[in-house]
Amino acid sequence: FAPWADENAKPYIRFENVTKRFGDFTAVDNLSLDIYEREFFALLGASGCGKSTLLRMLGGFEQPSEGRILLDGQDLAGIPPYKRPVNMMFQSYALFPHMSVEANIAFGLKQDGMPKPQIAERVAQMLKLVKLEQFAKRKPHQLSGGQRQRVALARSLAKRPKVLLLDEPLGALDKKLREETQFELVDLQQDLGLTFIVVTHDQEEAMTMADRIAIMDKGQVLQVATPPEIYEAPASRFVADFVGSINMFEGDVARNGSEGVTLTDEAGTRLVSSHAPEDIDGHRAWLAIRPEKIRISSKRPEADNVLEGEVWDIAYLGDMTIYNVKLDDGRIVKASSVNSLRRLEDPLTWHDRAFVSFPADAGVVLVR
Ligand code: ATP
Repeated sequence: FAPWADENAKPYIRFENVTKRFGDFTAVDNLSLDIYEREFFALLGASGCGKSTLLRMLGGFEQPSEGRILLDGQDLAGIPPYKRPVNMMFQSYALFPHMSVEANIAFGLKQDGMPKPQIAERVAQMLKLVKLEQFAKRKPHQLSGGQRQRVALARSLAKRPKVLLLDEPLGALDKKLREETQFELVDLQQDLGLTFIVVTHDQEEAMTMADRIAIMDKGQVLQVATPPEIYEAPASRFVADFVGSINMFEGDVARNGSEGVTLTDEAGTRLVSSHAPEDIDGHRAWLAIRPEKIRISSKRPEADNVLEGEVWDIAYLGDMTIYNVKLDDGRIVKASSVNSLRRLEDPLTWHDRAFVSFPADAGVVLVR
């Protein structure tokens, strides 16, 4: 499933140069974005970057100050929320506290004037979908956080929208339940064949659920790509830094031969990389490399890039261990290793001399 890679595929939702101002504050800044039918799409960014505002404009709760939003080729301007084939599930779930689970789910259908027998049938379907058949008569306060989340989901799916907008859908759940629910949401989205757009500030959540992720900052989209692309080939330092943890070496770059580049930092250390954009000769640039791509060892290894320092911090996280190595010039390099049996033989400990090394193809060179 990769309609975005097919140049003949038509986007289902299109944001076209959309700007949203609140007074003289620009919350969404000339943003363009295409989303495809049946895509699970995530808007990922820090608090205040404009992701909820973008969602609310698609839902019809805010109007763009400039630009257009198209759904299946139709301009949504002037179409009220309830007439859009879009439904929104809010962060707070916004359940009616005095109504039972089934009455909450039925609420929108009643408002639309759906006949009673049909409502009953639809509510039963929805309860089954989110596995809450036993809880139909309960009030929201008699449910756990995870169950409330599923009621909200059932309610927002009851009207059979083509697109479901989810604003921080799992924010109120604890870590374990959140992780389980992420997979449930993906299964549900695939079974129903709907387009889901989720807003989150949690990168793991976005990586777990989404087909593609848009990384947002200051009302703009910085990169749209699949989770592996975002992680392995970030387009900028902001994206590299926002998703996962990363080491950054700053320096001047020069081409070396047809393939790679050499980056020389302030201290005169030379690092080589085989992944670099075209035409970067003489640029200021950053070699970005993930901790798990860096090897740490007590003996000087044979490698394209080798740096020497002292083991400064060790964090044992169970599945992996993170080492902070302080180089002799004071910089800290973060290296991580998966804990297999091999780790037990690993003799490195605090204040040991250590070498960090990585091959030329392990990092990416970024110019912005
Ligand atoms: P969060 O994760 O905290 O919800 P967000 O990325 O979803 O953040 P938005 O809710 O889209 O951010 O808000 C973007 C910016 O626009 C914020 O600085 C916010 O204060 C501002 N903003 C949003 N709605 C309004 C409004 N109705 N009036 C004035 N400013 C607003």
